[in-house]
Amino acid sequence: MRIEAVKGDITRESVDAIVNAANSSLLGGGGVDGAIHRAAGPELRDACRALGGCATGDAKATPGFRLPARWVIHTVGPVWRGGHDGEPELLASCYRRSLEVADEIGARSLAFPAISTGVYGYPRNEAAAIAVRNLRSASTGVDVVRLIAFDDETAARYETLLS
Ligand code: ADP
Repeated sequence: MRIEAVKGDITRESVDAIVNAANSSLLGGGGVDGAIHRAAGPELRDACRALGGCATGDAKATPGFRLPARWVIHTVGPVWRGGHDGEPELLASCYRRSLEVADEIGARSLAFPAISTGVYGYPRNEAAAIAVRNLRSASTGVDVVRLIAFDDETAARYETLLS
């Protein structure tokens, strides 16, 4: 599997599936979640409602509707509470479960946002390391993963980890 770091807006990614950093209700929120719902259109909220929520560390797929991506894989990252509340394992699970769901729906190219590093407060450098480590060690049919950084600090961190 090839892993690329890219700075940009995940809603514009033409991959098979983009991953959403959702909250457990799956009914939309701010940050990347809000941007994905705006770009996908109101059908996405209806599809999410039918899923009945999602546990932290788990992932569930919907169509992408008006997005360039065919699918959205919604995963729920942990809220950072200092790091001793299972946050690293739950964040690792987000990346692994998203790849498993990608395999289930036959998605071969994926784009991930920096899960949990916005409102949920996960330290950016540690989150980036968890992302890269868990993607590299996964056994999956996914060919390409694009790590989408929304800010320069995250982009630089991904570049360092991947080089
Ligand atoms: P969480 O609640 O999991 O912390 P946020 O949406 O608040 O989720 O932030 C997760 C990451 O997504 C942050 O690094 C934020 O800068 C980034 N982000 C926000 N909007 C976008 C976007 N349109 N494309 C890619 N990344 C985004």
